[in-house]
Parts: sequence; C-alpha cells; structure tokens
Amino acid sequence: MSGALLSDANRRLEKALQYVTFHKDAAERLKYPKASLTVSIPVRMDDGSLRVFQGYRVRYDDSRGPTKGGIRFHPNVTLDEVQSLAFWMTFKCAALSIPFGGAKGGITLNPKELSKFELERLSRGYVDAIADFIGPNIDIPAPDVYTNSMIMGWMMDQYSIIRRQLVPAVVTGKPITMGGSLGRETATAMGAFFTIQTIMPKLSRRPENTTVAVQGFGNAGAVLAELLFRSGYKVVAVSDSRGGVYSEKGLDIPSIRKIKESTRSIQAVYCEGAICNLVDSAPLTNEELLELEVDILVPAALENQITEANADRIKANYIFEVANGPTTSDADTILESKGIPVFPDILVNAGGVTVSYFEWVQNRSGLYWSLDEVNQRLSQKMIEETELIWTIAQDLSCSMRTAAYVHALERLAEAIHAKGTRDDYLAKW
Ligand code: NAD
Repeated sequence: MSGALLSDANRRLEKALQYVTFHKDAAERLKYPKASLTVSIPVRMDDGSLRVFQGYRVRYDDSRGPTKGGIRFHPNVTLDEVQSLAFWMTFKCAALSIPFGGAKGGITLNPKELSKFELERLSRGYVDAIADFIGPNIDIPAPDVYTNSMIMGWMMDQYSIIRRQLVPAVVTGKPITMGGSLGRETATAMGAFFTIQTIMPKLSRRPENTTVAVQGFGNAGAVLAELLFRSGYKVVAVSDSRGGVYSEKGLDIPSIRKIKESTRSIQAVYCEGAICNLVDSAPLTNEELLELEVDILVPAALENQITEANADRIKANYIFEVANGPTTSDADTILESKGIPVFPDILVNAGGVTVSYFEWVQNRSGLYWSLDEVNQRLSQKMIEETELIWTIAQDLSCSMRTAAYVHALERLAEAIHAKGTRDDYLAKW
C-alpha cells in the first residue's frame, strides 16, 4: 500500500498515460518501488547517551541502470516521502537520458541539534546499516536537503572501510579531494539556469524585464538566485526556513549570500543565519513570498509548498520547480486552470543528478574533467532535453510536466520492454 505522497506522485504517471499508450506491464511496474529498506541507527551522543535514529533507503526502479538519489536529513522524513522522492528520481533520470534508475534515502532528525561528531557517527552508522543495499553498480547516494559534501565524504569513507578498498563511485557529491567532480555543488542551480534561459526566449521574455522570487536559500536556491541576478534578472524576494526579504527594486543577491554565510557559527555544519533582518528590505513570510506578483516563482526548499490551499492565490506568471515536488497534483490542476505554466522538478532540478552522473563516470574512468568541460556537458544536456520536452508539450498540447513524464515514460517503457513484457508472449516469433 502506498502513502499519500507516493499516491500523489503516481497521479502524474496516470496523467501522462492518458496521452500515450505504453506496455501495460511498464505502467504497472512503475506504480511500486522495487525495494524499500527501513533501518534503526544507534548513535553514541557526545554526552555518553545513546539515541536511535530511523533511516530509509528506497530503490524505485533500476530498468535503466543502477539507482541514484540523494540522502535527506530532516525531521519530516518518512518512508512515504522517501518513496515518492525515489519515484521522481526514476523519472528525472529517464527524462534527462541519464543511465540510472531512481532512489532516495533519508534519516528522520533535526540535524541542527547534533554536533559535528554526532553527525559523523550518524552518517557512518547509516552506511553500516545500508551497505548491502548500495554500491557503484547497485545504488549510488548523493546529497540532498541538509546533507553536504562533507557528509558524502564520510559515507564514501565508511563504505570503503566496510569493503576494504577505496570505492569512490559509491557516492557522488563528495569533496573534490575524495573524487568529487568540479561543478557538482552548483550543478542543480546551473541546470535550472540553463532551462530558464532556454525557455525565456520562447515566452518572449528578457531578463531585465523579469522579476523573480526564490523560496529556499540553500545550495540550489541561493546559487540560482545569484546566477539570475548576475544575468540581469530582478530577484525581488528570497527566503529560508525562518522567513524572507522583499524589495521591489530588486535585491543584491551576492551581498545577501555573503551575509548569510558570515553569520554561520564557525563550528556549525549548517547555515544558522536567517536572512531576515540582515538587509535593508521588508521582511516577508514564506507564505507571502509564494503569493507575490512576480514573473517567475522558484520554489527551492521542500515539497508540498503549493497546494490546494494556496494555489488559487499564486500570482506568478511562471513557476520553475527547483525543489522536488513543491506542487501537489491538486495544485497543478488549479494552476493549469489559472493559466500558470509549471516547469517541472524532474526537468528543472536535473542538473544535480546530471553532474552526479558525470562524477560517477569520472570515478570509474579515473580521468577528471575541468570545470568548463563539466559545465559545457551540463549545458548541452539541459538545453537538449528542455527543447525535446517543450516540443512534446506543443505537439500534445499538454503541460510541461505531463510532457516531461511522457518523455521519461517512453525511455522507461522501452527499457522495461527490452527485459521482456507480456507483449513478448503474445507476439509471434
Ligand atoms: P539545502 O539544505 O542546501 O537548502 C534548503 C533551503 O531551504 C535552506 O535555505 C532552508 O533554510 C530552506 N527551507 C527549509 N524549509 C523551508 C521552508 N519551509 N520555507 C522556506 N525555506 C525553507 O537544500 P538544497 O540542496 O538547496 O535542496 C533544496 C531543494 O532542491 C530540495 O527539494 C531538494 O530535494 C532539491 N534538489 C536539490 C538538489 C541538490 O543537488 N542540492 C538536486 C535536486 C533537487
């Protein structure tokens, strides 16, 4: 039985299936995760006490290659959430023609409450618990919300200790010195930027006349806000978990990033500085940011931000989803009726997994690429697939989300069919 989030994710699949006919087996297979692992992770805390954390790893579908997906440290992590994130990864990799299936992992905790050493013990304990479930040819984790390259480095090291050999390709998003790829930290934002830049001329929009609001000022949101700012877009609002700031004239994003970075306490692993009160502009809540009258709204924080409850109040002209699953399927219907196009997560934020794939390739070949080479390959992939999905949306007169799912489904169905479907038994040899 699937949870509410996975059921909602599955509605996207059902919608895409209305537009094209696929082998029934493929559609049936893709409704369920291939394997879900739940683990308990005992961690010795700094004060000597023992805490046990709940962790998950889900491999959704591996028809197109080993599974791939980030690891999230967050209090709201549930098996249902991890399964739906793994579902999205499956479609994202297929939409971008990356030879991976989809996976995801997570631990339910507030990482800001743990010391750095406690986080290290937790990260290593998680790998101990899931070591037989992952591997460079099986399932390859990466960073996600509240995990970073340092944590990926610990995880790769722990896996290598267990296997008694160096296995850099088991995890991506590692520190450069441990086999990480140049450009991985900025890849999600760069990918989203390339997609926005490909789409804007089609909508006859120029950066200088385009206002932007970004919800979520982390790895993805802050870097994208700066890329847009530097390309002439007017970024009028940004926010983090504690709230945001607004300026009609446009915000100075590099200064906001500097301020946020400098307020981080030296020993902290996570950014602790709130954006609020640090710049000369009006504070606003995350709810207010979502409902601003802007050209482009970029949800870049968490899922379920635009729902049935607030979709009617969204006034943006276009939504580019950098977070995974920020819009529910009910909200999608409302936005569609309001004529607000949504450029979907499985396309817009795919830069991260694309450069993760590049990192895995570099680890396995032993040949490392320059930053220019990484960004050039990323740009080529994002532009190519954005164009293809745009064309499908025009041809089928459907939303960009449905077009992206149709595009991904074609590749997934082909792979599933190649392994043998009911059609094989019905066909004459
Ligand atoms: P991050 O941890 O670096 O940043 C998350 C940001 O969101 C932080 O600024 C945090 O303060 C803010 N935030 C948290 N809760 C919020 C709330 N309720 N309202 C507003 N802001 C809130 O994470 P990230 O890596 O930037 O990921 C952000 C989103 O992008 C996630 O949905 C993630 O799954 C998705 N994503 C990330 C990557 C990647 O490579 N980092 C790749 C693909 C998708």
